[in-house]
Amino acid sequence: LSDRLTSTFKNLRTRGRLSEADIDATVREIRRALLDADVAVSVVREFTAAVRERALGSEVSGALNPAQQVVKIVNEELVEILGGQTRALTFAKVPPTVIMLAGLQGAGKTTLAGKLALALKEQGHTPLLVAADLQRPNAVNQLAVVAERAGVPVFAPHPGNTSAVDDAIVDGDPVAVARDGVATARARQHDVVIVDTAGRLGIDELLMRQAADIRAAVQPDEVLFVIDAMIGQDAVNTAKAFADGVDFTGVVLSKLDGDARGGAALSVAKVTGRPIMFASTGEKLTDFEVFHPDRMASRILDMGDVLTLIEQAERAFDSEQAAKMAEKVATGQDFTLADFLVQMQQLKNMGSMKKMLGMLPGMGQMREALDSFDEREVDRIEAVIRSMTPAERDNPKIINGSRRARIARGSGTTTTAVNQLLERFEGAQKMMRQMSRGGGPNGMPALPG
Ligand code: GDP
Ligand code: MG
Repeated sequence: LSDRLTSTFKNLRTRGRLSEADIDATVREIRRALLDADVAVSVVREFTAAVRERALGSEVSGALNPAQQVVKIVNEELVEILGGQTRALTFAKVPPTVIMLAGLQGAGKTTLAGKLALALKEQGHTPLLVAADLQRPNAVNQLAVVAERAGVPVFAPHPGNTSAVDDAIVDGDPVAVARDGVATARARQHDVVIVDTAGRLGIDELLMRQAADIRAAVQPDEVLFVIDAMIGQDAVNTAKAFADGVDFTGVVLSKLDGDARGGAALSVAKVTGRPIMFASTGEKLTDFEVFHPDRMASRILDMGDVLTLIEQAERAFDSEQAAKMAEKVATGQDFTLADFLVQMQQLKNMGSMKKMLGMLPGMGQMREALDSFDEREVDRIEAVIRSMTPAERDNPKIINGSRRARIARGSGTTTTAVNQLLERFEGAQKMMRQMSRGGGPNGMPALPG
């Protein structure tokens, strides 16, 4: 085999277990990616240790090279911590379902109240918004504006200046407002109540107590902790404080439209064990979506399309072919040009080699290997093999000078190209035979599987 193909085949080979060196190199890259994504340092440390342990014990898959396989494990672990399957809202058996929002000031609670109300309304629910943030003078008004835009009523202590505002007048006690709001929802047969609460700029004893009191008063079915995705390293402390002070049933990650890589998501999920349920992605009420752990995982990893690539590789890898090939090796049967062609096609199935390069940030070694691979080479090899007769494919030894010229003409290549291919194939065949007698030389391609 030429060096070029040898190095490409290297990426397809490997059996047995992942080596410690392979794992450590990739884990280093992952650690950097996580820290760049602002995942809390303590979380990164624990996470990478867990990944390393799992990778050490795992078998090499036929479709992936070691680095890809470690990335795959990392991705699976990330998705797992981020909640695996997306969790939907829990609705009360007897309405109204009470949803309370908690989080720091500016986290995006009031905006989220409107988004959630609109989404629920569109699903046929009849939400009522309750303005239990009496901390800032304008907070009630802000919720009223949001409610009007969403086209849902609001229960507020002071009448606002919009028609959607309920005219109930309650004194300035947020706990009482929350309680009365829920009672009103029940009386007016709203099936969902969303209680907006106050936040402070930092973690604050008083604020926590107020939120806990509201929680005790309204017995919510869901307490959603809203956290700004841009909060970075502070995510852990903030989430812990709210988990201890108020406790929450789910997390909403806001401002995901910014450039935050979303490390906060991993930190919060890991530290509190609570699922992330929604993502807020802009200032418009429709900038709201159900949280997707898998998308978030790839955002945190920021490995370009590397995860897509891994999926493609796994799909392209035809396990049946591999099994057949493995059997050939095991029984010492000859590796034929047809097998060679199948291997080539598997390479091609994985998509453009050059494009794959672009999908592999920081994977220097792999990139080098792929860099030297000319995709057109596979096309040429394919054309040459296709221009051979079945007899020639079975027994290349019969391909004499005139046959070579004919094959070159038929494949639109040159006799030199045909000669090169046959030499290369002979090398591969020799290697396959060696392997069938008990393992190839170190670093040489083994069969997938
Ligand atoms: P609260 O103090 O927790 O109620 O936060 P607000 O809902 O008042 O939001 C604070 C600021 O962040 C406001 O200017 C919002 O328009 C903005 N905001 C909220 N959610 C998002 C979001 O998902 N993306 C962006 N870009 N801005 C947001
Ligand atoms: Mg607010």
